[in-house]
Parts: sequence; C-alpha cells; structure tokens
Amino acid sequence: MNAHDIQRAAVLGAGTMGHGIAQVLAMQGVQVKLFDVNAEAVQGGLATIGVNLQKGVDRGKVTEAERDEAFGLIAGVTTMDDACEGAGLVVEAAPEIMEIKLSIFEDLGARLGPEVLLATNTSSLPISDIAAAAAHPERVVGMHFFNPVHIMKLLEVVRAEQSSDEAVECAMELGRRMKKQPILVTDSPGFASSRLGLVIGLEAMRMLESGVASAEDIDKAMKLGYGFPMGPLELTDLVGLDVRLSIAEYLHSELGETFAPPRILHDKVAAGELGKKSGKGFYDWAER
Ligand code: NAD
Repeated sequence: MNAHDIQRAAVLGAGTMGHGIAQVLAMQGVQVKLFDVNAEAVQGGLATIGVNLQKGVDRGKVTEAERDEAFGLIAGVTTMDDACEGAGLVVEAAPEIMEIKLSIFEDLGARLGPEVLLATNTSSLPISDIAAAAAHPERVVGMHFFNPVHIMKLLEVVRAEQSSDEAVECAMELGRRMKKQPILVTDSPGFASSRLGLVIGLEAMRMLESGVASAEDIDKAMKLGYGFPMGPLELTDLVGLDVRLSIAEYLHSELGETFAPPRILHDKVAAGELGKKSGKGFYDWAER
C-alpha cells in the first residue's frame, strides 16, 4: 500500500464533498470513478467540478491543460461494479448516517482485496465501527476533508482501533500528494475539528434563537473579532444544516448536553432550509 502507486480511485457519493474529493484526486493524475446512487447527483457533481476547474483557470491557479486533463480523468458512474473496478483507493462520502456507511463498507470489504485503502470522509462517526463492517478492517481509516475540498488545506486522518500503520501512513502520504496538510487524530467522537467547530456553530445558533444579534452580526463578531475567515452561521450554511444536525445528534449522544441541537436547527432542517445547497439556511443564498 503506497500513496504514490494509487492510479485509480472510487469516490462514493457525489454531493458537496464527493465531487471535491474527486477533483483533487484527478488534479494529482488519479483516474477517478465518481459514484452516486442518484444519477442526478453524479451529473450535478461533474457539472460543479467543471465550474470549479474553470474558476481555477480564471484565477490563474490552474492551466487550461490541467483543467482538461483533470476533468478527463473523472468518470461518473451509477453502479458499484463500475466504481470499484481496478480501484487502489475508495473514499466514501455518502450521507452521515451510520447504517449507510456500514452497508457500504461491508460491500467494499467483500469486493476489494486487502491491498486497497478504504477511507471514510465521515465528520464524526466512529471509524472503528465502520471499519468493523469491512473484511480486512486494518486497511480502513478516516480521511476527513474540508469544504470546499479543492481549497481547504486541512486533512484529518483518523486512526481506527484496527487501522494498520501502513494504512495510516498511506493516507497521510496521499493527503500530502493531494497538497493537503494532514493531521493525525485518534478515533473519538467528532475527532478534533468537528467537535470544536460544532461547539461554536451550535452556540451561534442559540444566540440567534434568543435574539442576541442578527446572523450577520454574530458572524461579523467572529470574523472581525477573532479573525475567522467565515462566520459560524455562514459556515453552517456551507456545510449543510442537515449534515450539522446529524453530527450534533451523534455528539450529543456521545459527549453530552454541550452538543444538544437547538430548536432552530431542527426547525430549519424540517422546513428544507439546508443552507447553500437548498438556496436558504441562515442566509438567503439567492440574494448573495
Ligand atoms: P451530501 O448530502 O451533499 O452528499 C451525499 C451524497 O451521497 C448524495 O448525493 C447521495 O445521493 C449520496 N448517497 C446516498 N446513499 C449513498 C450510497 N449508499 N452510496 C453512495 N452515495 C450515496 O453530503 P456531504 O455534505 O457531501 O457529506 C458526505 C459526508 O462527508 C458525510 O459523512 C459528512 O458528514 C462528511 N463531511 C461533510 C462536510 C460538509 O461540509 N458538507 C465536510 C466534511 C465531511
């Protein structure tokens, strides 16, 4: 298992994270199959990759040749057979729902030999439980990328109880190959980043709920007062309110009341206000 030998990868889930992971892998010359159970999500993911690569060209960060080469390396697929064929790496970026992750890893374990690195992009769920669903759980690790994947430098590599040193080192080196700065974290609820980030995000929601200040002013407080590049409510809109609710519910059950999701978060998700991806969350994205 060597990060520099990986020539083909499957990315499972073509949503907010999956298409970004596919793009960054392709930018390093990896041939990527972008899989989703929803064919429209595959098309949407490919379209967004095209837009993001073009933005890279417009900003002078990507050449036209790099854009074309990367885009040419990504194929959208809707069957697991097509996705996994010849893969040396699989990165799972399906919804933050344990049952879905377990069934995917059970399937992957049965399909792919022990030499294939299996990674989950979960933001909070226990990697050791996910690994246990797969044959040869020692090749399973967490590779937690950040949104937007083609821009954010951090990669949190999470070592499950079963992860071999070889799998962890391969994931760290793969992160460096993808021009990320990997940090190594032990498997614990919310790892390092989601646990800390969510505390601030949930508190910002409680402050909005109780009328402390407007969403804009709460975000401005953290941007101008603490140097955050983006306010916690704006960031929640970018992450997806449904994704943050799932993470909060899990961390609430594992770590206690600090992570209890506020009413406003439940209400907005029930109303379909999921943030940027649905057009509205704490902000109206049609107006931005
Ligand atoms: P998303 O809802 O945007 O996309 C998930 C995609 O998975 C959807 O297109 C859905 O059709 C697809 N899907 C459903 N079942 C599937 C299956 N069995 N196999 C393959 N695809 C399937 O979600 P997202 O925001 O991209 O999050 C994906 C994962 O990444 C989650 O675990 C999330 O916690 C994590 N994550 C999200 C962010 C973020 O900012 N959104 C950041 C870091 C990590």
